[in-house]
Amino acid sequence: MDEQSPVVKMQAMGMSDAGFPLHLIIVSADKDFNFESLHKKNKRIILINNGIHPGEPDGIDASMLLVRDIAINKYKLPANVVLAIIPVYNIGGCLNRSANYRIDQNGPTEKGFRGNSQNLDLNRDFIKCDSKEAKAFEEIFQLTDPDVFVDNHVSDGADYQHVMTLLTSQHNKLGGDMGEYLNKEFEPALYSSMKQKGYDLVPYVNAFGDTPENGWSEYWDSPRYSSGYSTLWQTFAFVPETHMLKSYDQRVRSTYALMQCFIEFTSTNSEKMKQLRDKAKQSVKTQTDFPISWQLDRSQFKEITYKGYEAGRKPSDVSGLPRLYYDHNKPFEKQVKIYNYYAAKTLSSRKDGGK
Ligand SMILES: [Zn+2]
Repeated sequence: MDEQSPVVKMQAMGMSDAGFPLHLIIVSADKDFNFESLHKKNKRIILINNGIHPGEPDGIDASMLLVRDIAINKYKLPANVVLAIIPVYNIGGCLNRSANYRIDQNGPTEKGFRGNSQNLDLNRDFIKCDSKEAKAFEEIFQLTDPDVFVDNHVSDGADYQHVMTLLTSQHNKLGGDMGEYLNKEFEPALYSSMKQKGYDLVPYVNAFGDTPENGWSEYWDSPRYSSGYSTLWQTFAFVPETHMLKSYDQRVRSTYALMQCFIEFTSTNSEKMKQLRDKAKQSVKTQTDFPISWQLDRSQFKEITYKGYEAGRKPSDVSGLPRLYYDHNKPFEKQVKIYNYYAAKTLSSRKDGGK
């Protein structure tokens, strides 16, 4: 696509532990691929990461389809938005393939391995930086300074009707006017535009150890995760998580649709998003106290429409002991509570008093 389209450029960016370079695909409607210049031209940058968990490759294929469709003018990338895409982040894990990884997942036939070539989970490495990938990511992140960051994944766990779930970086942790905007404007707009494209979004189903029909608390993404890391730099961050039991085709299409929603919202709200980020970057320079731990506030919640399947227990074919299953003959729709407020628990003060 780089060779065939003037709006697409691929460049090597840093090294991976596997000994192969990472890449960055830049898609820019006015054929400018220099980020310093793009920032000066007031472009909004969306950084998309794929294959950090290579067994979850939906974003890799969805990104290729998206870039192809932009290159052949099937999908018009707005003039004020530039895409920066890491095609595959965990290259070592992607090369380590088996049909037996993520065995319950509905395709593709062979999947990559979660750990990288050092067996590190790269989506836990954004602060400690034990991997070359994390160091390269920091360079990519500083270069692109994205307004929006998207890290495409596939979930496992509970069974439900939704194809796509969305982990939005925790809004209190992002904080200030940006956090408020993320919670009240950006995220609700994604829900309504995805609905128009035929997908009912729900928050990432964070109901481990329990079935989800009674609601759940929003995932708290610390900075060791990609989205938590990104919000440290005043970036709106999201982790789309398709549902592993849906067909690969459905999952890739929903990932594609959600990336369109990010592009369209960012283009429409470009100036507002820039103002919010500029203000947040200014205020962090003089901020003296920083929350370093958080606590769920159970007194606050929102209600969402959850489309699930009734759960039950039946004897396991292997052990004869009761096991959990979800009955596809018993779908239900229900309002459930999502506890999505966290309060700062511990503050850390700057020694230099913000100087
Ligand atoms: Zn994942």
